[in-house]
Amino acid sequence: MSDSVLIVGGGIAGITAALNVADYGRHVYLVDDTPSIGGTMARLDKTFPTNDCSICIEAPKMYEVNTHPNIEILTNTEIRKVTQTDDGFTIRLLKKAKYVDEEKCTACGKCVEACPVSVPDEIDGKIGGTRKLISVAFPQAVPNKNYLDIRCRNGSMRSEGACIGECVVDCSQCRECPIAHCVKACNNEGKFAVVLWQKDENIDIDVQSVIVATGIKSHEPPEGLYGYDVFPNVITYMHFERLMNAGGPTEGDIIRPSDKQHPHRIAWIQCVDRGDKGLPYCSKVCCMVAAKQTIITKEHDPSAECTVFYNNMTSYGKGFEEFYQKASGLGVRYIIGRPFDVTEDPETHNLTLRYEDIINGTIVEEEFDLVVLSSGLEPNDRNKRVAKTLKIDVDERTGFFTEPDPLFSPLETATPGVFLCGGATSPIDISESVVQATAASMKAVARRVRVAEEVAV
Ligand SMILES: Cc1cc2nc3c(=O)[nH]c(=O)nc-3n(C[C@H](O)[C@H](O)[C@H](O)COP(=O)(O)OP(=O)(O)OC[C@H]3O[C@@H](n4cnc5c(N)ncnc54)[C@H](O)[C@@H]3O)c2cc1C
Repeated sequence: MSDSVLIVGGGIAGITAALNVADYGRHVYLVDDTPSIGGTMARLDKTFPTNDCSICIEAPKMYEVNTHPNIEILTNTEIRKVTQTDDGFTIRLLKKAKYVDEEKCTACGKCVEACPVSVPDEIDGKIGGTRKLISVAFPQAVPNKNYLDIRCRNGSMRSEGACIGECVVDCSQCRECPIAHCVKACNNEGKFAVVLWQKDENIDIDVQSVIVATGIKSHEPPEGLYGYDVFPNVITYMHFERLMNAGGPTEGDIIRPSDKQHPHRIAWIQCVDRGDKGLPYCSKVCCMVAAKQTIITKEHDPSAECTVFYNNMTSYGKGFEEFYQKASGLGVRYIIGRPFDVTEDPETHNLTLRYEDIINGTIVEEEFDLVVLSSGLEPNDRNKRVAKTLKIDVDERTGFFTEPDPLFSPLETATPGVFLCGGATSPIDISESVVQATAASMKAVARRVRVAEEVAV
């Protein structure tokens, strides 16, 4: 009987669950379909309500996972097929090629230097962040290895100047590339790690339990909402988080996209795109994220004028209300009401918000240098496929996984042996994700004992 546990998703929830299960002596497969574990937390600056540095907390855990003898990390990997057995599951994983041999790559960066093409980064692109077609996912990535963008490998970046794209031969036909700058740079170092002919690989595993920790993503507001994607100085709260972050595209310099100047008057609009046409639920974290971002902005520049437009203050967690009070005490202006539109001065790119001041009953127009949209959290877009593969349910309205009996069997799913935690269940903060991950890991470990007893009977 296999006593292994598969964890799908390597964010803070998956990492916490992996360490717990592994410390109980079980073998863990920690699978993430991106090139690195870490999830959203690895991209944050600080974390409410303590404002501790996010990566400083998560990186040691990522390292522990990477060096734990009971944990096998599989990145760029998806679950493809699940067969239920008497005592668990046989699962087919698809490990997609990174076109880099992870055993040989030391992330020396020579291939990155040699790559001629920069593309907008998936998270930071709208605020000027770029990455090379071959790169590490982020500086603290685990595994800390380079990966090659598949668009380069399949030739679709040819018009951008990708050197592989010049070639007329399919990469799978060669064992030594005479064209690609990254291959040549790597070979010059004697590493021979860039392997353009690498293939996707099927891996079959037997596990007793599965923990789904596929997390959340920052919701992308529709184009035009409050001028988003139209005016350069309207950004999301994820973009602002990245601007604050020393590991972000501006190395922590809070500048506005249009002119790279420090914004002085900054507005946060809460509950953006919430409602029937947008997100039909409260994302729970945005009020505290705005408090965090205003506090940190004030730390950067005490004279910055921060204004938060909100409806209800969601400060339900331990220390949350005090955190909001702290922001307020620093002079952050909290205005009840959602602005109804944003217009731009085409010369200065400053933004004018029109809003109703509900307390005073007046319509107000006010100018800001930067507008931050707190656009909420949404479920991962890969959830439906995971649900189908594992025969578990997603809520049609919200897209998060559901528990048939959340009151008495929380974190359990329609398939016995498959458990949930973190952002896979609902919009959630880090501490709640960690609590859930700990509970789910205990359920996964306890299941072995139960199944063994049933088999014995
Ligand atoms: C702008 C912003 C600021 C925030 N600030 C704070 C804060 O200060 N404090 C706080 O407590 N919370 C904060 N949060 C919330 C916090 O990010 C989440 O609580 C936390 O990331 C949830 O962790 P998770 O592991 O469940 O999900 P995630 O961090 O989203 O990780 C999920 C992982 O699963 C992987 N994955 C997804 N689908 C699949 C699949 N099908 N197969 C394999 N892998 C998959 C993803 O690649 C990812 O690595 C913030 C969120 C945002 C957007």
